[in-house]
Amino acid sequence: DSTVADRQVDSVCPYCGVGCQLTYHLKDDEILFVEGRDGPSNHNRLCVKGRYGFDYPRHPSRLTTPLIRKPGVAKGLDPDFDPAQPLSHFREASWEEALDAAAGGLTALKAEHGPASLAGFGSAKCSNEEAWLFQKLVRTGFGSNNVDHCTRLCHASSVAALMECIGSGAVTASFMQAEQADVVILTGCNPTVNHPVAATFFKQAAKRGTKLIVIDPRGQALGAYAHQTLRFTPGSDVSLFNAMLNVIVSEGLYDQAYIDAHTEGFEALKAHVAEMTPEAMAPHCGVSAEEIRQVAREYATAERAMIFWGMGISQHTHGTDNARCLISLALACGQTGRPGTGLHPLRGQNNVQGASDAGLIPMVMPDYQPVSDAQVRSAFEELWNTELDAEPGLTVVEIMEAIHAGTIRGMYIQGENPAMSDPDLDHARAALAKLEHLVVQDLFVTETAQFADVILPASAWPEKDGSVTNTNRQVQLGRAAMPLPGDAKPDWWIIQEIARRFDLGWDYTHPREVFAEMQRGMPSLDHISWERLEREGSVTYPCPADDAPGADVVFSDAFPTADGRARFSPTVPLPPDEPIDGDYPTVLTTGRQLEHWHTGSMTRRAKVLDDLEPEAVASVAPGELRRLGLKPGDALTITTRRGSITLRTRADMLMPEGMVFVPFCYAEAAANVLTNPALDPYGKIPEFKYAACRLTVA
Ligand code: SF4
Repeated sequence: DSTVADRQVDSVCPYCGVGCQLTYHLKDDEILFVEGRDGPSNHNRLCVKGRYGFDYPRHPSRLTTPLIRKPGVAKGLDPDFDPAQPLSHFREASWEEALDAAAGGLTALKAEHGPASLAGFGSAKCSNEEAWLFQKLVRTGFGSNNVDHCTRLCHASSVAALMECIGSGAVTASFMQAEQADVVILTGCNPTVNHPVAATFFKQAAKRGTKLIVIDPRGQALGAYAHQTLRFTPGSDVSLFNAMLNVIVSEGLYDQAYIDAHTEGFEALKAHVAEMTPEAMAPHCGVSAEEIRQVAREYATAERAMIFWGMGISQHTHGTDNARCLISLALACGQTGRPGTGLHPLRGQNNVQGASDAGLIPMVMPDYQPVSDAQVRSAFEELWNTELDAEPGLTVVEIMEAIHAGTIRGMYIQGENPAMSDPDLDHARAALAKLEHLVVQDLFVTETAQFADVILPASAWPEKDGSVTNTNRQVQLGRAAMPLPGDAKPDWWIIQEIARRFDLGWDYTHPREVFAEMQRGMPSLDHISWERLEREGSVTYPCPADDAPGADVVFSDAFPTADGRARFSPTVPLPPDEPIDGDYPTVLTTGRQLEHWHTGSMTRRAKVLDDLEPEAVASVAPGELRRLGLKPGDALTITTRRGSITLRTRADMLMPEGMVFVPFCYAEAAANVLTNPALDPYGKIPEFKYAACRLTVA
């Protein structure tokens, strides 16, 4: 019977940072269906992606052999190019030839122009071990710290604020702690869409009496369970949060004992917010002073309260300031370090936490140890038996600028798709086209791979063993369930083969050996061995002993700063980089849909998901549609200072007037053609959540 599975393999979902555990049910090495398992973050639940998102490993357009660009074929997106028929632009090659060409182009550029001429993007879709190897290759082979990944487009600003204020970039408590909280603030996030199984925990908590407070310009499904919603004016976050701090200070709602015991700088914060009364800030925020007061009081007077945030907070030029405000709220009210309290930036990709921990970041080594610190470098130099560059590397958007400037000439991109995910795509794609040598390692001929000189066919998540770390700091093990198709290879093997051609002499035979090396360089992995992961499936870091569970809630006694204290970091409200005006009167915001993942390379190849959401749509408030004289489904053109796209409209009651939402997964109407590349100065994250645009009938 072709519908009855002949074996099961336990693993973890490859999509979002919730990290749901699942079981593949296979027949003849094909995934028949997937079931949720009783993992700590999902309790048997899965969302639609975790259930139906597994057509991609065996999709007909899957890359199964290395490819080399044919001579004379221009680089760039060609509207006639068919990713399922890549041989019009590329020719097949043996692994030996492809690896020699891939590494040869990079080593030649390094020899002629020096280490700073190369850069690499690793992937939050790959395992911790693959991330570790990739950053090690860039630092020890390429010879610079020019290595980054999509955290730069995601929570880099949150991490910058958390590192500055509390000394650690990870969450202080898991999202399961929401069930013990009296008040939960959700701001700049839409968990039902982006962290669907985490949303079920919030919903259950609300049903049991937790007061949910949803603070976001857009409405959302969890609004139905909310005690209060604040739909503020886009871009006015810092004004709103400072007004809440003003209430907490002026009404004496802060926790002086906690502040005295655990923090520094509260007096300066008090003085700083003194003028930012709800009455002064409310006109900027589009909500009433009384609503601001109510929310501040609810949060400050709760016995246990948590704050969760997403990219509505982080993806602004003031993203770090947004996160600083949220941290100040928690510190002022003593809402960290106890069950049911905490700060939790909801991580996006399945392994963005782990890839960041493992060092795919240009200014820090693994475990966020600064590359500029001589002691840190010396420890890694000893571990890797090499010399390391002391200069922090360039970030994602800076690397694109450096290509235009002629500084960066060659790149190795593993599993990321900047030709869809970077802001101001025309500019980013022009940079990719300008590269003298580009190696792309992926499952498909993605938009980025269309710019490559060499394409290396990689492994899909169900085809490999590896660990990943979810938003809760839970390190979990994924297991190989099916063979690699054709001549595709494990990612760790490919990175190692490139490293060997940089004379690095690596000799790993399995990811478990890489994990053992990671444990030597990453204190966060103390007491979490590969064998333990095989046995237990999931272990939370930090973990105090080989036989003890990890810490779900951290920083009860002290923060991991030099003096054990957290710091308040006052913030000044700033306008968005590109405010709306008469020519561009509407706010464009971008993000994900429930059914599709990031740039769509996996989910648009999943039949059920693609049937549910088959084409690009722009979500617009019904009143806005009427004003434009459009009906739902009519074509709309959206124009910003960087470009235009045309797509269908969807009437969305949850959208505010004056705003349009476009998901960024559709290549045929790529939202990032429109977005603003202006960066937050601390996290270097672009302002994906606010660009001035104009809507016109197509
Ligand atoms: Fe996968 Fe996230 Fe859905 Fe869980 S919630 S099944 S991890 S996409």
